[in-house]
Amino acid sequence: MRYDNEMKQSQLFTKTRKDAPKDEVSKNAQLLIRAGFIHKEMAGVYSFLPLGLRVLKKIENIIREEMNKIGGQELSLTALQDKQVWEKTGRWDDAVLDVWFKIKLKNETELGLGTTHEEQLTNLMKDYIRSYRDFPIYAYQFQTKFRNEIRAKSGIMRCREFLMKDLYSFSRDEKEHADFYEKTKQAYINIFNKVGLGDTTYLTFASGGSFSPFSHEFQTLTEAGEDSIFIDEKKGIAINREVLTDDVLEELQIKREDLVERKTVEVGNIFSLGTRFSDALELHYIDEKGEKKPVIMGSYGIGPGRVMGTIAETLSDVNGLVWPTTVAPFGIHLISIEDKSGKVKAEADKMYERLTAKGMEVLYDDRDVRAGEKFADSDLIGIPLRIVMSEKTLEKGEVETKDRMTGKIEMIKNERI
Ligand code: ATP
Ligand code: MG
Repeated sequence: MRYDNEMKQSQLFTKTRKDAPKDEVSKNAQLLIRAGFIHKEMAGVYSFLPLGLRVLKKIENIIREEMNKIGGQELSLTALQDKQVWEKTGRWDDAVLDVWFKIKLKNETELGLGTTHEEQLTNLMKDYIRSYRDFPIYAYQFQTKFRNEIRAKSGIMRCREFLMKDLYSFSRDEKEHADFYEKTKQAYINIFNKVGLGDTTYLTFASGGSFSPFSHEFQTLTEAGEDSIFIDEKKGIAINREVLTDDVLEELQIKREDLVERKTVEVGNIFSLGTRFSDALELHYIDEKGEKKPVIMGSYGIGPGRVMGTIAETLSDVNGLVWPTTVAPFGIHLISIEDKSGKVKAEADKMYERLTAKGMEVLYDDRDVRAGEKFADSDLIGIPLRIVMSEKTLEKGEVETKDRMTGKIEMIKNERI
């Protein structure tokens, strides 16, 4: 029996490797593959291995907590999608939505693999929304999306199969919608702070909202990004290229010369949909006066895998990954440096038991390999705190700790750990 907070490296089936596959051009995927977090199946398609899945789940849980806090209810919709529902909004057409993967049943009926879920969920809500008493409804999921992306050169930041957190709001009027929109904005700020991207992520004015001329994107600074935004650093405001017009600059009271252009990746976005989907799919309700009204909707996305890729991309160093404690696969990397007597091993085993019994998450490098190899692997894997036990440290009744982010090394009395 192994508990979820413990793992012996001798039993972990993944191994670190010196080189990433030759065809892998992205830094995040190179590091994650070398450290054994993901496996490349083909361009834009990656499997998550035990260490990588732990990071993904941590990011997922941080998002889940914030979604629940603002009243979200979690569900899980199917990836197989009904063509007829999509035809009603005009988005079945490849000219309108150019990333479709379409498949066929044996009887030739066409189906789509879900790229997003506005259509399906709006259609589903017709069974549950009848009157003004049924509002508001905030439904979200962590679900696999399929997109036939043209370019897939950014590692797990742009995949053809990827996890998305998509939240959809159903409100009775603009005010109810606007209040929730502001709450999600704050929830997203909390999420990006918690996962360690707070300092580099900008709330960015983008095009395409209902009620206001804007939607909002959360854009993180990185050279690996495929977007670019224009930032007024003094005001802390960013706008994307699509809305960079004289009118918008005037509305936001920004001067063009105060803006600096930076490369970014979109890690999340929030969008007022108005009645576009509820009209097309006839999702209505009866208000207090008995009148039929359209439902006001919003959609709010984050890609947990893209967030993980962005962290790998922006917080790593020459030696490997550097995980913030909130999303690290384990909190502690315990390393025993073997001696001939076997004394160190016995002490390290005890330490492993003590730490895990306290509920700490520990990866224990109990392998019979050279110290240098263990240290290099530890830097590559990027766990926040390294604890080394060797004959030398034991003589003094101490352990050596190293903070992966700052590189700071300390000697600490054994019993204080
Ligand atoms: P992009 O402009 O980068 O293609 P998008 O506008 O198509 O993104 P949405 O459809 O709004 O993205 O998806 C919501 C979120 O899902 C994005 O903010 C991003 O975090 C994530 N995401 C989108 N496409 C991918 C992808 N191909 N691989 C991984 N994550 C993705
Ligand atoms: Mg896209």
